[in-house]
Amino acid sequence: MAAFEIRDLHKIYGRDVHANDGLDFAIEAGEVFGILGPNGAGKSTLVQQMVGLSVPTSGEIRLHGERVRAHDRRVRQAVGYLAQRPLALFDLRVREAVVATGRLRGLGRSAAEREAKELLDEIGLLDRQDRLVGNLSGGEHRLVGIATALVGSPPILILDEPTNELDPVARRRVWDMLMRRREAGTTIILVTHNVLEAERVVGRVAIMARGRISAIGTPGDLKERLNAKVRLEIALREDGPDVGEWLAGARQIGERRFSLTLDRPRLGEALQHLAGPAVSAQIDDLRIVSPSLEDVYLAYHDTEGHSDAH
Ligand code: ADP
Ligand code: MG
Repeated sequence: MAAFEIRDLHKIYGRDVHANDGLDFAIEAGEVFGILGPNGAGKSTLVQQMVGLSVPTSGEIRLHGERVRAHDRRVRQAVGYLAQRPLALFDLRVREAVVATGRLRGLGRSAAEREAKELLDEIGLLDRQDRLVGNLSGGEHRLVGIATALVGSPPILILDEPTNELDPVARRRVWDMLMRRREAGTTIILVTHNVLEAERVVGRVAIMARGRISAIGTPGDLKERLNAKVRLEIALREDGPDVGEWLAGARQIGERRFSLTLDRPRLGEALQHLAGPAVSAQIDDLRIVSPSLEDVYLAYHDTEGHSDAH
């Protein structure tokens, strides 16, 4: 049975902010599922409804086959949730926050104490265990949020941008922790706009833009679909004159560096053009790149959710 089913989900804020605009998909038990998309795509809105903290305008969400209700008790037992902005914990000490959440998930006092200690050790916060959460740095605060999501070993984790604000060491530690849970069969739903991180860990991914899903599949599938495309990375000489109209449609990726995505059949034509005397004199470096998940993301994003690469 699916862990989550989302059926024709709409969420409208106020009169006309269509934050979720007809979402339809399922997440199977045991999956590591990525929800990718730019700021404002509707990702946090979606997961808030999945955990019953926000009520859909229409459509439905099922958890293990049963409809999720507002403040659903089943969610508290089955789902460890890290909000994008965890607010509830400020007045607690680090260890208390984790213990209290474990108790809410049904652990006895001593089991909760023991697990909190193990988790804080695993996540690198044991020396902060008596601090007030509200006094921690942004990254430490997020780590406490992750520890509370994990305590009691819920079968499903929903983490909204878990590695934002984390330094590289903490980030690595968190990924390792999540991968251990995945090995143990935990379903992991990961909201992120960090495509490079996601590519390494997710089994399937939904790419969201403007409240809709513009593509869904394994990173491999999505890249395959994009294989009809090819990307050129072009670095221009510093002293070169104006880039000219042949770079119209290119995306700037650095100082004097541009990225141009083409249909594969047009590659020959483009290279011929770039090799012409007027243009080639301006070019410092030229690379032909096969698509990464980041290219997939940008390709679907650039077409505003109406990509012909569907
Ligand atoms: P994401 O998590 O992908 O960045 P959000 O789900 O947070 O996107 O937001 C989607 C859209 O809904 C945005 O336009 C945002 O401004 C709007 N929005 C989010 N939460 C609210 C809210 N509580 N009230 C009104 N508008 C909201
Ligand atoms: Mg968000």
